[in-house]
Amino acid sequence: MTKAELKQRVDAAIDRRAEEIIGLGEQIRQNPELGFKEVKTARLVEETFGKLGLAPKGGLAMTGVRADVAGRAGDGPTFALLGELDALVVTGHPVADPQTGAAHACGHNAQVAGLLGAAMGLLDSKAFDHLAGRVVFFAVPAEEYGDVEWRVAQARAGKLEFLGGKPELLRLGHFDDVDLSMMIHMTSRPEDGKTGVPASNNGCIVKTVRYIGKASHAGGAPHMGVNALYAAQIGLAAVNAIRETFRDEDTIRVHPIITHGGSQVNVIPGEVRLETYVRGRTVEAILDANRKVDRAFRAGALALGAKVEIETLPGYMPMTCDQTMARMYRDHMVAVVGEEHYRQIGHRTGSTDMGDLSMVMPVLHPYMGGATGSGHGADYQIVDQKLAYLGTAKALAAMAVDLLADGAAGSRDVLKSARPPMTREQYLAFQRGIARREVYEG
Ligand SMILES: [Zn+2]
Ligand SMILES: [Zn+2]
Repeated sequence: MTKAELKQRVDAAIDRRAEEIIGLGEQIRQNPELGFKEVKTARLVEETFGKLGLAPKGGLAMTGVRADVAGRAGDGPTFALLGELDALVVTGHPVADPQTGAAHACGHNAQVAGLLGAAMGLLDSKAFDHLAGRVVFFAVPAEEYGDVEWRVAQARAGKLEFLGGKPELLRLGHFDDVDLSMMIHMTSRPEDGKTGVPASNNGCIVKTVRYIGKASHAGGAPHMGVNALYAAQIGLAAVNAIRETFRDEDTIRVHPIITHGGSQVNVIPGEVRLETYVRGRTVEAILDANRKVDRAFRAGALALGAKVEIETLPGYMPMTCDQTMARMYRDHMVAVVGEEHYRQIGHRTGSTDMGDLSMVMPVLHPYMGGATGSGHGADYQIVDQKLAYLGTAKALAAMAVDLLADGAAGSRDVLKSARPPMTREQYLAFQRGIARREVYEG
């Protein structure tokens, strides 16, 4: 059987399950959960894998679920298809969890529906009779790097080391036997067309910043206090002042938030907490901007005679997609969506922990349309369920065929030319080297 015939069979199998796959995507959309807490979503994935006759392993990096299927047409590389389980807190999103505020404003529900749909299509069509090597269906936790204080507490309690899903899975060895991997993020940007592959994505470092002043009576004795909020404001103003030193080509993004701004209004704030990312196109650019950001935050403490604790946490690595996989994806998807709807997407300034995998193995991370509104915005919604849910399922499954049919010739081609920049040990050592805690007394 040719690859084209096999892909047609898989597509037909996915179409037969269309209602079920869309239902799964919608069920997840209506039950959004934050990273490392995706308990209901993980259970749904495990149950669905179970119904397909797979033997999933759950609880990986807290909530990850992995199921492997070996091809019956010989040995070959192991290809992982990923779907991210988590949502994020977006104020005012209409389909947010009333308790946690979590909402699927990044379309991860479609990623998981696509992952499950791909498994259904490949299994129902008996595609594994014609594939060599192995496919790993992997629902992964916590791509959105938020809820930082809770995650830091989990790390202190020894439940996590890295605070993002894929870095933590890498650390725990759950990707040790994976040779190449792929996932698809949704896009709501019209300029991305129906689908396309980005040239690269920013990486990031994550920081928590705590200004410690001295509380005192805000009316009766402000002179006895040290105002941590004013120290933080000066720190933030200093961060804004250094923006003009960032080069356009480094695409630096620094976007702090205040997570605690004072205890109550008649008390001079004794403690103020901030979080920020420092994002950039290259590791060098991120580290350079990070040094300036630290200096700016110190300035706030210096001005007020306050203290500042700056904790720098490993974030996500810049991402580069494998060119051989990108070509394969393009060749297949142009035929599916039409040349005019396919895009070679440029550099994207968001970050994803797919970048971390791209440090150690060839990866592919296309974007798929079907959403409108602003990514991470309250108006974000999936409007084309066929494209977002079924299109993702078909695109993932088609890559499994392209890479693992014909004795896995496609994946062997990819691995022959791929030069991931780091070994897994080098990656872990690099990320551990980022972690740093500084206390500056102003
Ligand atoms: Zn995302
Ligand atoms: Zn996102």
